[in-house]
Amino acid sequence: MNNDIALIRRAIRDIPNFPKPGIVFKDITPLLSDGHLFGRTIDMLADRYRSQKIDAVLGIESRGFIIGSALAYKLGAGFCIVRKPGKLPYETHKAIYELEYGTDALEIHVDAMPANARVIIADDLIATGGTAAATAKLVSKLGGTVVECAFVIELSFLKGREKLKPHGVFSLLQYDSE
Ligand code: AMP
Repeated sequence: MNNDIALIRRAIRDIPNFPKPGIVFKDITPLLSDGHLFGRTIDMLADRYRSQKIDAVLGIESRGFIIGSALAYKLGAGFCIVRKPGKLPYETHKAIYELEYGTDALEIHVDAMPANARVIIADDLIATGGTAAATAKLVSKLGGTVVECAFVIELSFLKGREKLKPHGVFSLLQYDSE
């Protein structure tokens, strides 16, 4: 288990100054392309929620679709997609959230999950927590309960988990600095 965590960490590639100067992008594509490590990543997340009667996993566009849909399959749960504005074809709810400069928004279909659903919010990485917090607002608009927010990577120094306090955060790998 610990050895797998070390191998997963080694399979994540740092790309400095992407997508803009000053950001160190955590590239998970080498992890995804390794069948054993991708499987272990999903298994370790699923182990945590197996006995928790999860109805649905929400995946945040776009790497959250990869992690979230595999996790949903493993848990026998449904998968709900959360997308950038204008991408979803049916009627949506929208949540607006703050960025460093300006705002962004996420949308979900109004019938994305059953009423009172117990859900996990999944993404590849938590940085400031704004994206996941906006997703949690969408869940409450639909009458669901966020059991936890699950990530492969947590940039702990950005303290995103404080924004998600009411729900809780679980991550496989933590980075204390860039
Ligand atoms: P935040 O809302 O600040 O927690 O940002 C999280 C979202 O932005 C996730 O969907 C991540 O995939 C993406 N993201 C933020 N920072 C990084 C980073 N350093 N490397 C890769 N993805 C990132």
